[in-house]
Amino acid sequence: MTENHTPPSELPSVGLGTFRTGGYECFDAVRDALDAGYRHIDTAMAYENEAVVGRAIEASPTDREDVFLTTKIKGYPEFLNYDRVLEATRKCLTRLGTDHVDLLLIHWWNPKGDMEQTFAALDRLVDEGAVDRVGVSNFSVDQLQRAMDVSETPIFTNQIEYHPYWKQEELLEFCQENDIVLTAYSPLGEGELVDDEVLAAIGARYGKSPAQVAIRWLIQQDNVVTIPKSVTPAHTRENIDVFDFELSEREMQRIAELEGPFWYRQNREGGHFYRARGIVGPLIPEPVLSKL
Ligand code: NAP
Repeated sequence: MTENHTPPSELPSVGLGTFRTGGYECFDAVRDALDAGYRHIDTAMAYENEAVVGRAIEASPTDREDVFLTTKIKGYPEFLNYDRVLEATRKCLTRLGTDHVDLLLIHWWNPKGDMEQTFAALDRLVDEGAVDRVGVSNFSVDQLQRAMDVSETPIFTNQIEYHPYWKQEELLEFCQENDIVLTAYSPLGEGELVDDEVLAAIGARYGKSPAQVAIRWLIQQDNVVTIPKSVTPAHTRENIDVFDFELSEREMQRIAELEGPFWYRQNREGGHFYRARGIVGPLIPEPVLSKL
């Protein structure tokens, strides 16, 4: 490393997600989260809000060096080669207004990308001090194993959808066995979980909301951290206020048994539904998708 960064030694277990937010809304949300004590912010090239996130960190009295900042390179084949990873990362840093990120992820696996070259470029970025840690997102166990095989730098995290309605036990076990952090995204099921009656009943015992119980359920598991998104200051504060209670083994188990709405059940059974931007519809078959 050319720079002597002093990144946060541990990844804060609750960070702020910023997907589907931009402009003043995103700026205010990030600033407010830092004021509320968040020290872990998640963004991505694909969210098109890196510049705003960067300005919000700059405008905050919190030191940049105290913030664990994650961004992601889009998993499109045109980005997944040696030169384009270097170029795309440098552009991310420029937009973020920083000389390094604490964590850089490959946003999703792409069989058409050159994964060996991609991870070789990440190793170089680490050597140059532009990136402190590397990781992946939406990788299966096999893809994660392949990333571990080709990357000289240890894979720090796999960021995947994980919450009481969408459990990925095999990936969690793999991460725990290999000392990889599982970063749980959509921890509130994109908002679906906040009306759950079981979570509400458990929360009532501790004076906590369903959202707080869902977040606590995640971070009480080994190797799991999470990044709830909120642009509502009361929610942002609520989501980080999860360190003064502990769920019992029985409660952890009861939450693990939750099934969620029908599309979660459908998908668990290998069904044919997708969910995007809060819309549920039939899965688009791959031959059609590739023509879009
Ligand atoms: P989420 O965090 O599960 O849910 C966000 C929704 O819940 C928003 O509508 C938010 O509304 C609401 N909410 C938040 N806190 C609440 C509370 N305490 N009470 C009631 N409602 C609450 O969904 P997400 O944004 O999909 O996931 C979180 C982050 O994970 C993303 O922002 C992104 O950083 C990351 N992510 C990564 C990937 C990937 O492919 N790597 C994919 C999806 C997401 P308000 O804003 O009004 O609070």
